[in-house]
Amino acid sequence: MHNKFHQSLINKEFHKFIIGAALKDFETIQEYSYLATHAGFDAVDISAFPLSVIAAKKGINQAQIENPDLTEPLIMVSVNVDQDPHFRRVEVNNNCTNCLACVPVCPSNAFSDLEGKLEYNIDLCYGCLNCLPYCKDDAFEFSYWSSFDTQSICELQKLGANAIEIHLGDNDEAFKNLYQNLAKDFLLESFCIGSKTNSTNELLRLSQLIIDQSGNKEKPLVIQVDGLPLSGAIDKGFEKDQMSIKKAQIVIDYLEKQNSNNNFFVQIAGGTDERSLAKAFESRVNVSGVALGSYARSYLQSKENKIEAIKELISRSKTYPKKSVK
Ligand code: SF4
Ligand code: SF4
Repeated sequence: MHNKFHQSLINKEFHKFIIGAALKDFETIQEYSYLATHAGFDAVDISAFPLSVIAAKKGINQAQIENPDLTEPLIMVSVNVDQDPHFRRVEVNNNCTNCLACVPVCPSNAFSDLEGKLEYNIDLCYGCLNCLPYCKDDAFEFSYWSSFDTQSICELQKLGANAIEIHLGDNDEAFKNLYQNLAKDFLLESFCIGSKTNSTNELLRLSQLIIDQSGNKEKPLVIQVDGLPLSGAIDKGFEKDQMSIKKAQIVIDYLEKQNSNNNFFVQIAGGTDERSLAKAFESRVNVSGVALGSYARSYLQSKENKIEAIKELISRSKTYPKKSVK
């Protein structure tokens, strides 16, 4: 008998809630983990910090106290080996003139107007860059999280992290070192091919790298292909998920050709919403699941009854035309 998340992958309805690889606002992590547990998400994807794991556990436990029948989602920690937009945060420098133009445009309310003076909470920033064009005074700078090591990842495991996602980049050696030294008892390993990788050759090269490094594992392995990450603040009406669906097709075809598709599952992310699974299946792209991130977080912000809202979101996402898949 498979774990729930493994069965969801097989059933092509794996759902991951991306809370944010750079997010350090622990109350928010706790709240989203609580909501994701109520809605039946298979995994929550969080930043790789001890307090993030503790916050996620708290949220999950709180939901399970309210309803003991709920299944615990995987706690997935996201790590990078290269610069990746998911690990980016904006910092405000001394050029700031307090014009406050950035205050209304941040989807995570990182900026506030404190009696005419800008107050900025960097821990709420997840690097979407929506604020960037609004600052005329060159007051924004970027920083990237990096330098995750084996020891810190083992500590996260002890605290309750049971899944890991490694974001690949140009640095293959850093990926190999990190991956081969990781403790091997994560229930799920996920490999993210990010938005920087768009050429077919690069997609195939990274797919082969993942196949070579992961060996013949018995456990399920996920390849997440990112289309347009951190896109929750972008205008609706634009087909944001098409890039991830197209990239998924290339990776799936390659895995099939290499006979490596037995324990690999491909999941789409970046620009995805509750219609993205259906769209992938309508295009005959046989993905195993979807990650909902900034879209879901923005959607929930405006809802009064967040538990009902997130349950509706996942239920709509699961109602796709399965029969259209080969
Ligand atoms: S708009 Fe995006 S990048 Fe700018 S502060 Fe808010 S979350 Fe960070
Ligand atoms: S838009 Fe730029 S200058 Fe204006 S308040 Fe924000 S950071 Fe400061």
